Amino acid sequence: MTIMAVTMKKYAHHIILGIFLSGFSLSCAEDKPSSNEKKSKTMETAKVIKTDEEWRKKLTPEQYAITRQAATEAPNGKAYEVFNKQGEGTYYCVCCGAELFTSNEKFHSGCGWPSFYDATKANNVLERVDNSSGMRRVETICKRCDAHLGHVFEKEGYKTPTDRRFCINGAALLFVPKGGAAPKLEPVESLKVQEKKTEVKKAAGE
Ligand SMILES: [Zn+2]
Repeated sequence: MTIMAVTMKKYAHHIILGIFLSGFSLSCAEDKPSSNEKKSKTMETAKVIKTDEEWRKKLTPEQYAITRQAATEAPNGKAYEVFNKQGEGTYYCVCCGAELFTSNEKFHSGCGWPSFYDATKANNVLERVDNSSGMRRVETICKRCDAHLGHVFEKEGYKTPTDRRFCINGAALLFVPKGGAAPKLEPVESLKVQEKKTEVKKAAGE
């Protein structure tokens, strides 16, 4: 890319901005994000952050291994048995309380793990490429706390509206029957993490 092209690219968004902003001036060419940009970035990255010790305290050893260390529960286990008996209701993240799935998107895949065909209702399930174990899979994680939930597979021929299979570890889910109270959402930063951040800032002389 030529220097000219780089320069054009660098300032292209400022030029576009200028069309919308009446007060377009040279100051727009500075590479400072606007307050709105800053706000949206903060909101995107607002995650529940806890120390390892805090997660261990909140979760059972199995829940911890699955959600924080990406372990997989055995197929057709106790969690799957319980899942199959659950009626109408909502599934929340066992770590942070974010809503993940509802019973409306649940289906019997026969794979041995809780299965859902869609996660868009709550919009709290993120998907990312997972190349571990010598396979290329798509991992599903909780948007609020990065808990490992399971994987998502598609085009397998299931007669569901999406033909996608969210294959989720039962231990990562907290089920609340219809009409029940939603779990309390974990605060974004635990006290320990807040204290640690203050210490780091002090040490940096801020
Ligand atoms: Zn979560």
